[in-house]
Amino acid sequence: MQSSYSEEKILRCLKENFGFESLRGLQYKAIHSVLEGRDCLVVMPTGGGKSLCYQLPALMLPGITVVVSPLISLMQDQVDNLEQFGIASVFLNSSQSYEEKEEVKEKLINKEAKILYVAPEGLQSFSVRNLLRDLDISLFAIDEAHCVSQWGHEFRSDYRKLNEIKDEFHSVPFLALTATADIKTREDIATELGMDDPEILVSSFDRPNIRYNVSERIDEIKQLDEFLKENHSGDTGIVYCLSRNKVEKTADTLSKMGYNAIPYHAGMTTKQRERNLKRFKVEPEIVVVATIAFGMGIDRPDVRFVAHLDLPKSIEGYYQETGRAGRDGEESNAFMVYGLSDVVKLSRMLEQTEASELYKKVARAKLDSMLAFCETSECRRKILLSYFGQTEARDCGNCDICLDPPEMYNATVPAQKILSAIYRTGQKYGASYVIDVLRGSKSSKILERFDNELSVYGIGQDLSKQEWNSILRQLLTKGLVRISDWEYRSLALTEDSRPVLRGEVDLKLRKIKEAKRALQKAKQAKSGKVIDLPEDKEELFEALRGLRMVLAKENKVPPYIIFGDKTLIDMCQILPTNEEQMKMVHGVGSSKFEKYGEMFLNEIESFL
Ligand code: ADP
Ligand code: ZN
Repeated sequence: MQSSYSEEKILRCLKENFGFESLRGLQYKAIHSVLEGRDCLVVMPTGGGKSLCYQLPALMLPGITVVVSPLISLMQDQVDNLEQFGIASVFLNSSQSYEEKEEVKEKLINKEAKILYVAPEGLQSFSVRNLLRDLDISLFAIDEAHCVSQWGHEFRSDYRKLNEIKDEFHSVPFLALTATADIKTREDIATELGMDDPEILVSSFDRPNIRYNVSERIDEIKQLDEFLKENHSGDTGIVYCLSRNKVEKTADTLSKMGYNAIPYHAGMTTKQRERNLKRFKVEPEIVVVATIAFGMGIDRPDVRFVAHLDLPKSIEGYYQETGRAGRDGEESNAFMVYGLSDVVKLSRMLEQTEASELYKKVARAKLDSMLAFCETSECRRKILLSYFGQTEARDCGNCDICLDPPEMYNATVPAQKILSAIYRTGQKYGASYVIDVLRGSKSSKILERFDNELSVYGIGQDLSKQEWNSILRQLLTKGLVRISDWEYRSLALTEDSRPVLRGEVDLKLRKIKEAKRALQKAKQAKSGKVIDLPEDKEELFEALRGLRMVLAKENKVPPYIIFGDKTLIDMCQILPTNEEQMKMVHGVGSSKFEKYGEMFLNEIESFL
């Protein structure tokens, strides 16, 4: 079999159908392995290009490729998208009527489709099973394969039953795809699906086009607004908040400020959610403010920023959410503000759940890592990747720390002050209370309990609340202070506090950074602008964008499905005047040329 699928043949098929010149990263290995009939597990970050790993083989293999996907709401989009590439595909799911299903089956039996999308629960039905037996199946692709693992956070029991399919169709290769970075989950996938000595391909988790920015919360809306104005005017992005309430409020505020902002959270009606999701898919410049309910299956490729106004619960979550930026490989930003109150809030929520002690322990550790990531003075990318077991020797040069390294200072004395204050007030108060004592607050709450005789009262007036909060957070991450009671958020000393109090160690801490400065520096280092066209081409670019919008409306698909920005930029640079030249443009394959090629050629000609 091997010889019939040479590299050359694969690349020809790629250019012809998708208009791409080359395969990315591990795509070739995955495709090759599938074409050889071998089971394969592909672990690639979001935007890595997992879909192509089954779409291309689907075109080359003689039979049908069955794609198992939990994302019923996306199936129509996926089919529409493939249609643009001239690839006939269909889906079967619970949203269809009996007649629609029969029509689909008919198509499959008549070999009028190459790809069938189906949900895992759908595979449990007799009629679908029977249908599969009647078809010539060349490949099973299991998308979002981490759903099979109970260890992961998106477990779906129907995924467990996929091994029955593997048993029955043991000669058909299984290709499992996931973006999960968790090693335990990966191991589970191969075992639970019953894969046969699979080729395991794990690509780098780095998303070099995403720039990570983390700052301490001062005035989050103002910080976000400044950040967007500086870097993202007219861009599309996602703003994550922890609660539904905050989502509503933030969306409202941003709208009033002139952003095209819409909310999304699980408390909205299905109808409202669907409407907003649709708007997010098709509108050119839109900001979605959302809880993490807005997630799986968001595959708009030109999301230019993802902002977090609250601390995520874990690095996995943060990585997954920020990963929705820049799927198209163009420069994008991940922006986050956080504060000590986030940690307190999340910890409290966790302690109040009914979950098992083990679960809580794991969740606490995850939150600690998340906080450590925020508080770090090392390259953020290094920390992220090392969390996923990937060691990087060099700093990335594309995160706020690399672009504007934090200043360190000897913080032994202020640390001693705050540790003493915690101790002297009886280790039963929360951060704001302790800081008020240090700063000599005249509030009655404090004066009632402690008079001026308390030795620590007012010894910390030299620093602002902000600065004390920053010190406290760093002490928490370093384990020099702990929270002893979640309900009252009481701070307490630890074993390691003693040497600091006794002055036996020199403690170096990070100075508070002016968020704005970091951003400006980042901006100088690299212009955040994605499209860098010479001025005389900008007009053409706008004209092509206009044409794309018209076609998108006519065809009822999002603009990027017609052509991505990269394709339009490429057109502006190559200025093709005939079919042959047009097909050299990135993203222009035969099918898209047939559909839109002439129209874009005309537009370019009238410009020239
Ligand atoms: P994933 O499923 O891994 O998140 P996708 O399969 O959605 O990623 O691919 C992300 C984007 O990258 C898509 O817009 C896709 O068309 C594009 N892409 C994938 N492979 C290639 C390639 N070899 N060359 C150019 N673009 C690619
Ligand atoms: Zn860095």
